[in-house]
Amino acid sequence: MPRERAEHLPSELDQNTALAYAAAFVPRYDQYPLQLADGTYTAVKSTLHPDLVVAHLKGFITLGAYALSPENTASWVCIDADLSDQWDRLRHISTSLAKKEVPSYLEPSRRGGHLWLFLPPISGQDARRFGRQIATNFKLGKIEIYPKQEVLRTGPGSFVRLPLGKHRLTGRRYHFITPSGEPLAPTIREQIALLANPERVPNAYLEKVLSYAPKARDHSPTPAFKPAKPSRRGKWQRVAGTPSERIKAAISVHDFVRQYVELDAQGRGYCPFHDDEHKSFGVSEDGNYWNCFAGCGGGSIIDFWMKWRARQGENDSFKSTIKDLADRLLG
Ligand SMILES: [Zn+2]
Repeated sequence: MPRERAEHLPSELDQNTALAYAAAFVPRYDQYPLQLADGTYTAVKSTLHPDLVVAHLKGFITLGAYALSPENTASWVCIDADLSDQWDRLRHISTSLAKKEVPSYLEPSRRGGHLWLFLPPISGQDARRFGRQIATNFKLGKIEIYPKQEVLRTGPGSFVRLPLGKHRLTGRRYHFITPSGEPLAPTIREQIALLANPERVPNAYLEKVLSYAPKARDHSPTPAFKPAKPSRRGKWQRVAGTPSERIKAAISVHDFVRQYVELDAQGRGYCPFHDDEHKSFGVSEDGNYWNCFAGCGGGSIIDFWMKWRARQGENDSFKSTIKDLADRLLG
């Protein structure tokens, strides 16, 4: 049965195949996201060696793929459905696009799944314009689109789990499927070979969509940090005390965090610290704290920034975090 055969591990996978596969997804090799046993990711600031990609495809480790290159280009758009009805829509979209001879790739996950559209390398801005316009054309409503940033400002930006690896938390490996639900290829090895040389969205279609897609607006959930308003700065200057007390007085957790995490009107958003599908992250504007209901923790601005720095692969010690926040907030 094809579905079972697709679960077989590719034992004889070589570095060249792994590298070709990685090249389809990975825009930079100077650092990489690594999934931990609890499903969260850490940013590893060292070279993504081919052996690591082999280990990913064999299921020993699980890597993420950053969406943007250091030059802010993208060679794919990934639409992330976290609800089963959205996933059904993505399968429908894949079918519709195929009729226009526009290739796309469906990768199911635990509940929803990803629709991958490989592009000739374009700016992150145009990649997002294209992805958003596809979502609009097919009436997808609010849905996550990677790259999440148009340009990189704080760290390497958004990433998606590199497909065909094992999810560390569920232990499952998800393979690509056709819109009708059959495996895209019978074995993982054949899937790797297919994805190592993905069919890209034709230039003519890309240009057509971009010709009517709205001009870029910055929807980035991680914009450049805006300095606290003068009134707030005036406020902290009246606050005596330790640097950490002054940092907490300089800006509310809500105002700080929303510059890094897209929050809805209820102050909820997708947790930046784990592979979140359910808006587990919340900020209480009144209570002045953040919390992840999936167990990533919670607390003050300082707790948030320590975790954020850890995720970016930066020094997450209390001392370094305080110094960084003081530079940003206390000016
Ligand atoms: Zn979390």
